[in-house]
Amino acid sequence: MFKGLMSGDDMLSLWIVLFVATGILSGIVTGYFRTRKIQPKGFKWKIFRNEIFFATITMTIVGTVMGRLSGWLNAHGWITFNHAPAAWWQVGLEYALYFFLFDTYFYWFHRWMHVEPIYSWVHKLHHKSTSPNVLTTLSVNPLESVINGGFISIFLTIFTIHDATAALIFPTNIIMGLYVHSGYEFMPRWWNKSWATKWFITATFHDQHHRFFTGNFGGYTTIWDRICGTMRPKFETDYEKNFSRRSLPAQASAAEEAA
Ligand SMILES: [Zn+2]
Ligand SMILES: [Zn+2]
Repeated sequence: MFKGLMSGDDMLSLWIVLFVATGILSGIVTGYFRTRKIQPKGFKWKIFRNEIFFATITMTIVGTVMGRLSGWLNAHGWITFNHAPAAWWQVGLEYALYFFLFDTYFYWFHRWMHVEPIYSWVHKLHHKSTSPNVLTTLSVNPLESVINGGFISIFLTIFTIHDATAALIFPTNIIMGLYVHSGYEFMPRWWNKSWATKWFITATFHDQHHRFFTGNFGGYTTIWDRICGTMRPKFETDYEKNFSRRSLPAQASAAEEAA
């Protein structure tokens, strides 16, 4: 069969099929992402270059500090896990405890980091990115990264959770960070309208925090922002714009973006 494929005619048809398939696939993927971009003209090479630089420095410093800290806490018995099999509701309760405590911790530390001089000293670096992309997640002052990442160590020191919950918590922390900085809105239109889901933040929610520097401080939920009145008043109409733009031709959507 391989020999047959290598013969001229078969090779040619194979390449044509692959060429067409790649074209269609990349068209679908590019179109999928392009229509979901929150700030279609937001990308700037200079900022992206700085993000690579600071992400590398922060990852090196924070990886070393957090690795040593959690290693020490583990070795001295401060962090232990419950290795017994867990019921689904136990995992659910432990996960919810982490989720809402982290959200509270993040919100209040985040608001504190917006007060001078802490803002200029610590948080301003992360706000150099006015149109986030996944690298923005890591482009933070090492101190800020230790403060945010340190929550998991504090949580695990106070609470002994099951292995299964731990296996959910770590990916949640990473995926949420990447998603809210992705620069793309993957959530559906009804997300902010449904009573069940509007409490959970979206990429647009945090994207607006980067674009306008203030409001929308929450990390996982919109709850604290709603309670404290710090949610951007135009957030919900701007969330809607993501979807009206998808149905507009490119020129009209660019005009709307500029407005
Ligand atoms: Zn901020
Ligand atoms: Zn951010």
